[in-house]
Amino acid sequence: MKKIEHIGIAVANLEQANKLYSTILNSKPYRIETVESEGVITSFFKCKDTNIELLQGIDEKSAISKFIKKRGEGVHHLAFEVDDIVSEIKRLKELGFEIINEKPKKGAGNKLICFIHPKSTNHVLIELCQKIK
Ligand code: ZN
Repeated sequence: MKKIEHIGIAVANLEQANKLYSTILNSKPYRIETVESEGVITSFFKCKDTNIELLQGIDEKSAISKFIKKRGEGVHHLAFEVDDIVSEIKRLKELGFEIINEKPKKGAGNKLICFIHPKSTNHVLIELCQKIK
């Protein structure tokens, strides 16, 4: 693991949350992107080496909408950057972690991503991400 690439925060209203985080961080989001496959609209803010990802569900079926319904808005996942996502998935799987998608998928910001199930990580959803070169 290289660093915490971003912290994902589930929000009910992205427009409002963008204003709030623009005020807190004193900068505008550097990217706003819809990821259809994940059912989310995301916005990213820079905070030195770590980014903040705000996520709003596209509709009620979205995992983010379900998360908010169940647990309310708040921290949704931690994303660690890795150099080789395939070997990290293999390593963690062999150690007994439950990988949600063993085949990495394309996420926001031209990255390959996978998630580790919170039940094997003290109820914190962990994302691994690797930049696509
Ligand atoms: Zn993320």
